[in-house]
Amino acid sequence: MADNCRRFVLQHTMDPVADGLYVGSAMAEGDEPLLREAGITHILSVASHYVASYPTRFTYKLVSIDDLPEENIIQHFPECNRFIGAALAGGGRVLVHCLAGQSRSAAVAAAFLMQRDRLDAEQALKVLKGRRPQIHPNAGFIEQLQLYRDLDYDVSTEKALYRWFLIGRSADYFRTHGAVGAVTVAARPAAQGRHAVRCRKCRCPLVDAPNIVDHRAGAGQAEFSFKKRDGSGTSTPHAFPQNHACSSLFVEPMEWMDSVGDGVVEGPIHCPKCRAKLGAYNWAGAQCSCGKWITPSFQIHRSKVDEVRHQLLSPPPPPPPLV
Ligand SMILES: [Zn+2]
Ligand SMILES: [Zn+2]
Repeated sequence: MADNCRRFVLQHTMDPVADGLYVGSAMAEGDEPLLREAGITHILSVASHYVASYPTRFTYKLVSIDDLPEENIIQHFPECNRFIGAALAGGGRVLVHCLAGQSRSAAVAAAFLMQRDRLDAEQALKVLKGRRPQIHPNAGFIEQLQLYRDLDYDVSTEKALYRWFLIGRSADYFRTHGAVGAVTVAARPAAQGRHAVRCRKCRCPLVDAPNIVDHRAGAGQAEFSFKKRDGSGTSTPHAFPQNHACSSLFVEPMEWMDSVGDGVVEGPIHCPKCRAKLGAYNWAGAQCSCGKWITPSFQIHRSKVDEVRHQLLSPPPPPPPLV
């Protein structure tokens, strides 16, 4: 390689983006003198199936990630943040690298800054681009950084927003492959307490308010997606459909639904206790009585259940005193 060409490449191999934190390319990871000069002690590799160049000379963490918008990168943020945070707390310096140092490593570094400094995705990426202009996470990663902020930096299937994100991905997988892949199901409501929806026949608690998918009445598509496809913003789990004329409730897949996690495309939904037929599910979607298509659809007929409105969940006022 010609000298000036090599200088150009080296210039762009890695850049400090925060105190002790560097973002760079695979070329940086393979350049021991460069790493030594920068005082790097820890290397977080987020390229696909990467093999460490100096496994005995630096402390590594290897996380295989593909640079594809549909890749679930957010699931790796907690472990990556722990690795970076521990290295920095111990006085180390960390290189986060992928292949070009533009998308995967940038998203991981952004997630670290977001959590540490309570930033949103745009703020973190602005910091990073100020230090390394070529930083450019793919569109799916940027959406996941925004979701990370919406989750308050807590990636947990206990959070409805994250479950919805995963269901949306399962729906995308079904569209692409015609088969049902991994399905994240919501936990069954606790036996005690007030519940949004119960079986009309046996009173068995079925779903709580955050498990219900809101949709606006009318034609067109509604999808399980934490961002609505029309860009109208975050669709937060909502207590009840706005149009009470809809004859069905659409909910997220629940762990009590038979065969929902078994790769089956469609089937009935039965009450887990009395076995009454409550509705049906279909990964290809189904139409509500209002005309809206919901994809995927986990549909419960309102005539089969009792709903408790949120207002009614607070205790009733005491009766007036007797006079
Ligand atoms: Zn029942
Ligand atoms: Zn409807």
